Amino acid sequence: MKNIALLGATGSIGEQTIDVIRQHKDQFSLFALAFGRNSQKAIPMIREFQPEIVVVGSEQVRNEVAEATGHASIFIGEEGMKAASTAAEVDVLVNAVMGSVGLPSTLAAIRAQKTIAIANKETLVTAGHIVMAEAEKYNTPLIPVDSEHSAIFQALNGERQEDVRRLIITASGGSFRDNSREELEGVTVRDALNHPNWSMGAKITIDSASMMNKGLEVIEAHWLFDMPYDKIHVLQHRESVIHSLVEFKDKSVMAQLGSPDMRVPIQYALTYPKRLSFDDTESLELEELSKLNFQKMDMERFRCLKLAFDAGRAGGSMPTVLNAANEQAVAMFLEEEISFLDIETLVEKSLQEHKSVSTPSLSDIMEIDKETRERVKRYVK
Ligand code: NDP
Ligand code: MG
Repeated sequence: MKNIALLGATGSIGEQTIDVIRQHKDQFSLFALAFGRNSQKAIPMIREFQPEIVVVGSEQVRNEVAEATGHASIFIGEEGMKAASTAAEVDVLVNAVMGSVGLPSTLAAIRAQKTIAIANKETLVTAGHIVMAEAEKYNTPLIPVDSEHSAIFQALNGERQEDVRRLIITASGGSFRDNSREELEGVTVRDALNHPNWSMGAKITIDSASMMNKGLEVIEAHWLFDMPYDKIHVLQHRESVIHSLVEFKDKSVMAQLGSPDMRVPIQYALTYPKRLSFDDTESLELEELSKLNFQKMDMERFRCLKLAFDAGRAGGSMPTVLNAANEQAVAMFLEEEISFLDIETLVEKSLQEHKSVSTPSLSDIMEIDKETRERVKRYVK
């Protein structure tokens, strides 16, 4: 039996993690559950799974949850999430919060040597050098949940890093894959939220439409697999059947295929190095796939992808700025305060005006993250 601490339980990955736990109640137990505001979604989960620890985003939400469930151990905010992630009983932390708010809990869990199933990619983008150094120091495994990284992890299958020629990350292309740049000018939030292949949280769906998600994933892959940026390639693959590939130095290519169902990589991260059967997901009907398409990425069309490669290569505090500016800009787009193309403009401007710190400490990162969000707000004003 594995005890799981789940951060971001009310989100898209969170709910799907709950579903995996529900299907294997003999294998997994939900020990701790954390969320921000959505008590409507969380209350039935708390009733069903009776976690020992509940963490919420505010005093008001704590009162709502306490009243509805009578739960005795409800914590608030970052300190609560860290306590949930490091409790002695916890075996695996699933970090599925959205954004760099997930960073302190990831670091705390690394130091407590908890296996981490990491969905929260912003943590690796904003502070990859710190997260990976700590994971190595404490010998703590980080198992990817992101489908592309789970695919690469499976394709690598423990092979030596120096035997890899390149990683090939596939991209569905997001909601606007068939639109020209001109057509992107008037797009609405609703258009952007309409992803062709995956159903996900709002922020990552916008990131998929802008291709920033792929950019964040390139940086995530750089850190998780210790791979230089020149060896990370991105290809558009509209079917989302091949979740990513690894080419080795003998030109042999390993790919991981499957239906687009996030519960599969979530479950794998929970069971690794073993697998459990999964009856509720579709088997890939290979005979129905007459053709798989691959296309080179157009870096001018998808400027955010280029910005991410550039920020990744520049290193230092540039990825922190990329991520924070993007989080702020996407939040403002979702509030209809800026247009879709403003997202990339604001990110670019933030990067241009930032004086990079070469090896930022954790407090530098927190500071730069905050500063960048303020700066983006000022640009808009
Ligand atoms: P959602 O927006 O659906 O969910 C985010 C979750 O984080 C919610 O439970 C939310 O709580 C919680 N949360 C947000 N801010 C805070 C905070 N300050 N304190 C505590 N909890 C907070 O996101 P997704 O599930 O889509 O994505 C989560 C992460 O997984 C992201 O990093 C994303 O990039 C990554 N990912 C997602 C995929 C997907 O298919 N969705 C695929 C691959 C990676 P509440 O809503 O209650 O406030
Ligand atoms: Mg992904």
